[in-house]
Amino acid sequence: MLYQRSSALFDEAYKYIPGGVNSPVRAFKGVGGVPVFMKSAKGAYLTDADDRTYIDYINSWGPAILGHTHPDVLEAVQKQAEKGFSFGTPTELETEIAKLIVKNVPNIDQIRMVSSGTEACMSAVRLARGYTGRNKIIKFEGCYHGHSDSFLIKAGSGAATFGNPNSPGVTAGTAKDTLLARYNDFEQVKDIFRNNEGEIAAVIIEPVAGNMGCVLPENNFLQKLRTVCDEYGTLLIFDEVMTGFRLAFGGAQEVFNVKADLVTYGKVIGGGMPVGAFAGRNEIMDALAPKGAVYQAGTLSGNPLAMRAGLTTLELIKGNLNFFENISKTTETLDFEIGKILNEKGIQHRINRKGSMMSVFFHISSVSNFDEAANANHALFNNFFHQLLANGIYLPPSGYETWFISDAIKQNEIDRTLEVIRKFEYS
Ligand code: PMP
Repeated sequence: MLYQRSSALFDEAYKYIPGGVNSPVRAFKGVGGVPVFMKSAKGAYLTDADDRTYIDYINSWGPAILGHTHPDVLEAVQKQAEKGFSFGTPTELETEIAKLIVKNVPNIDQIRMVSSGTEACMSAVRLARGYTGRNKIIKFEGCYHGHSDSFLIKAGSGAATFGNPNSPGVTAGTAKDTLLARYNDFEQVKDIFRNNEGEIAAVIIEPVAGNMGCVLPENNFLQKLRTVCDEYGTLLIFDEVMTGFRLAFGGAQEVFNVKADLVTYGKVIGGGMPVGAFAGRNEIMDALAPKGAVYQAGTLSGNPLAMRAGLTTLELIKGNLNFFENISKTTETLDFEIGKILNEKGIQHRINRKGSMMSVFFHISSVSNFDEAANANHALFNNFFHQLLANGIYLPPSGYETWFISDAIKQNEIDRTLEVIRKFEYS
């Protein structure tokens, strides 16, 4: 049996941890089967509890952009650990990473560190509400901004995979302040603004969506959102938890040349440690405690180990002039070659890609919003996923997720991946 030890570990975990996992998407509930328990990771590869290795296309859901356990990051964290794990006081390191980010990301003056993407988005929305004095937000169907109550309304990622995008436990009072729009449907956004004049604090969006599979903004959608937000005095929040330091150092703001009022980060910014952040211009960030009245805090915010991992990762990315070009090229090659193989097999599909994010949808039409992503053949994706997994290729375990390509994936890994996909049989 391929996953013997994982299976035993899962049975044991199931007794003590809800559903056997500490985050639902790990459970393979969508694709079926037993989640693979990993015990180590290096470069492009994961090793599971049964000592099988996999080429990793999840990369911890984005953070491991350099590949796993990069030697420089490892050394930096080890050295930092010797100095102490957490002080609960300010450290010079926090200013160092803040400075690097503020100087190299467009349109932000200050950044506040937190410990997850959820916290970052939740706090950014509170700040937007506090700053504007308004209550409502617009979010897009299929976008995921973490598991804070306001966001679990038609949410993507695991919430979509498991068919409960509107979570029980979110009060009607909270839900009514989240207004929903279809991704890429600007007319609908305009209607919502007209019907809620003076009430919308913020529009929050994944500038390239990654939680309904990878879905790109079309027809200048982001620019149009900027314009309508300006017209109505609403803040535009880019959730760059996935896209930040991945599409470019300056994320989607840089790539699409659209300025957001607040930007949220996670994943790459922590180099594999639990980090999130939110950032914006002085006038907005000054409203935050202790300077301003909008409260937000965290015992482990700016934790030195996490800051060191993040700083070293960002410096390595910044120091490699062709970094983003290289990972985009790898992703483009995968897109092109996988597309060719699927065409030869007569399998209808669409591949969406931006930079080092991509998804394969088994669908006849283009995929520009959540409904179209939902109409893809997910049963076929699940079959594809399991055949690849059995042959040492680790894809995200859901057709509603994005593949994250790391800098450790080179020609060898591409060749091996394509060889496995060439053998894909579908019924
Ligand atoms: N925003 C986006 C775009 C995300 O993809 C995620 C997580 N995948 C989050 C927010 C929440 O981040 P976290 O899981 O670190 O709370």
